[in-house]
Amino acid sequence: MTPDEAAAHLSEIAYLLRHQGDTHRARAFTRVGGLVPRERPDLVALRQTDRLATLEGVGSGIARTLAELVDTGRSTYLERLREELDQPIAYPAPGEPSPLVLGGYRGDLHSHTDGSDGGASVLAMARAAHARGSEYLATTHHSPRITVCNGLGPERLAAQRHLIDEANRELEGITILQGVEVDINEDGSLDEPDEALAALDIVIASPHVGLRMERSAMTDRMLRALENPHVDVIGHPTGRRPGTRPGADYDHEAVFAAAAARGVLLELDCDPARMDLSPELAALAASLGCRFSLDSDAHAPDQFIYVDLGIWVTRRAGIGTDRVVNWLALDDLKEVFA
Ligand SMILES: [Zn+2]
Ligand SMILES: [Zn+2]
Repeated sequence: MTPDEAAAHLSEIAYLLRHQGDTHRARAFTRVGGLVPRERPDLVALRQTDRLATLEGVGSGIARTLAELVDTGRSTYLERLREELDQPIAYPAPGEPSPLVLGGYRGDLHSHTDGSDGGASVLAMARAAHARGSEYLATTHHSPRITVCNGLGPERLAAQRHLIDEANRELEGITILQGVEVDINEDGSLDEPDEALAALDIVIASPHVGLRMERSAMTDRMLRALENPHVDVIGHPTGRRPGTRPGADYDHEAVFAAAAARGVLLELDCDPARMDLSPELAALAASLGCRFSLDSDAHAPDQFIYVDLGIWVTRRAGIGTDRVVNWLALDDLKEVFA
């Protein structure tokens, strides 16, 4: 088992724990899951010399899980949690394409690079996505308002276009789409000028701040964002973080119906800390005619695996792959975003 795979297992455990309300333990697993791939390439050696518990943040419980993962490639703890939440799953073997990709998933439409708060370059992210078998990848930076994430304004977006064009000339077998994850301001306006949005391949509009707004104001905010003709996708539509933050309250039916009418996709954000939409809201959106985008929101190459984790939401919500645009060939996808 590679450190990346171990980390993916730890992240899934964290996600399931959050759903069960065990936020404290979830945080511990998330922290170690984030640290292992970056800082512990020597995970196996640590196990062999019985030093796993010396890692920062690793208590005896996490050490036991890590030891079992290294020794057997499995975690009985994870398997028990999965059973409790009824979600069987297959993982890609090392260096193999993801089972999801083998099932027709063609590319991820929400990812971050070191251009804002991600951990790897555009090229490294694209190569990692290609190794999984993906045909395309959208890189979607934050907008300027999210200053902690080093968001990109119009000038830096224009500069990034050149970087992406260059990368696309260099890459074979995968195409990078230039996008943005633009913030939905409290009044429903967007945190980038229209001209900047018009020049992009894909525009995800996401609510990040002010999520505790009163219900009717929040509904107006989301409806106004949907009126912007450049918006292609609503990213993690409620902003919830299971176990830590409930997510924005608004008239879901009105907002989802407006999204369906305007042909704006709703994202199923598979970051284990988000899993937003929930299966219940996703089912509601599907019943109102919405289409979806199933994404990792990856900030590092090993996080593309999140879509393999998150696919259960579509099953639980009864959403067929015909309703999820990531199963479309690139040309057909471009039609959707035209
Ligand atoms: Zn976001
Ligand atoms: Zn994001």
